[in-house]
Amino acid sequence: MRAMTVIPGQPGSAELTDLPEPEPKDGELLVEPLYLGVCGTDREIMEGAHGEPPPGRERLVLGHELLGRVKDTGRLVAAIVRRPDPVPCVCCAKGEWDMCRNGQYTERGIKALDGYGAELVSVEEEFAIPVPDELGTLGVLTEPASILAKAWEQVERIGTRACSSHERVLVTGAGPIGLLAALMGVQRGLETHVLDRATEGVKPEAVAALGARYHHGDITDVSKECEPDVVIECTGVAELVAGAMRHTAPGAIVCLTGVASSRNLSVDVGALNNELVLENDVVFGSVNANRRHFEQAVESLRAADPDWIRRLITRTVPLDSWQDALEKGDDDIKVVVEFPQR
Ligand code: BGC
Repeated sequence: MRAMTVIPGQPGSAELTDLPEPEPKDGELLVEPLYLGVCGTDREIMEGAHGEPPPGRERLVLGHELLGRVKDTGRLVAAIVRRPDPVPCVCCAKGEWDMCRNGQYTERGIKALDGYGAELVSVEEEFAIPVPDELGTLGVLTEPASILAKAWEQVERIGTRACSSHERVLVTGAGPIGLLAALMGVQRGLETHVLDRATEGVKPEAVAALGARYHHGDITDVSKECEPDVVIECTGVAELVAGAMRHTAPGAIVCLTGVASSRNLSVDVGALNNELVLENDVVFGSVNANRRHFEQAVESLRAADPDWIRRLITRTVPLDSWQDALEKGDDDIKVVVEFPQR
């Protein structure tokens, strides 16, 4: 069978490799991938900046955003990315591997475990997530949606520390993560604002179709105008990360979800400190998702307008030319690799 593989740490090493088919152990499902989403993490692995092969191996099978069909039953499934660390730490022991405390977790397609980018994959039953038939191919967004389901759950948990309710969310970035964050903001009945660089095209259109407000331009101006009490930062861009924490409403909760490349930026830490302290603001980071968040993601996608979700999948690339999926076009939101039906 063919698999999308890369040598982590070695840019330019990506290829379609012939590998033996997996032999599922007890409790594992054989799954035929239908669609596989790609994201910035895959791009970083291909550029040699991230990723780790399975022990004793050179190549890693890429891919962590799976929608597939269980070979035996024909059921649609998505699959969880992270596996608990072997110790396990107190969080992994409770199924909250997304909060792993010792860093020894593994991740399919990213860290020490093969991913889902192959013509046949095995998935442990308890790490497979049923996707309702009515979602169909849109179920490929389950994994990215799980990241936001977790982020919003954490915002809500933090929000219970005081009496104020939250009303206005600013999302920075209108890529797949930003748009799914905005969807969940609207689903919660919040006034939802989205900031991105694009001045026209599919991103402003998708935001408008959601009934949210689209902004481009300077984050300071936008924050002053809409005074968000929740910010979901989805870019990892230094200026936006710094800007996201300023000019929020009192009691604001700022969730950082992006991963930044190193960048020096001069920030007035004193002024930032004073804003956070004097307004009881919270800034926190959020990564990955556990089973509960995948289930919440499926519910959120199911509750959304399917025509709106369909807009997020802007390009489909056949497995034969899978590397094209990683090239970023201006109008790309989510790009998916399509697997041939066997
Ligand atoms: C994945 C997460 C993962 C993170 C860090 C993201 O692209 O969606 O599941 O934890 O990368 O490896």
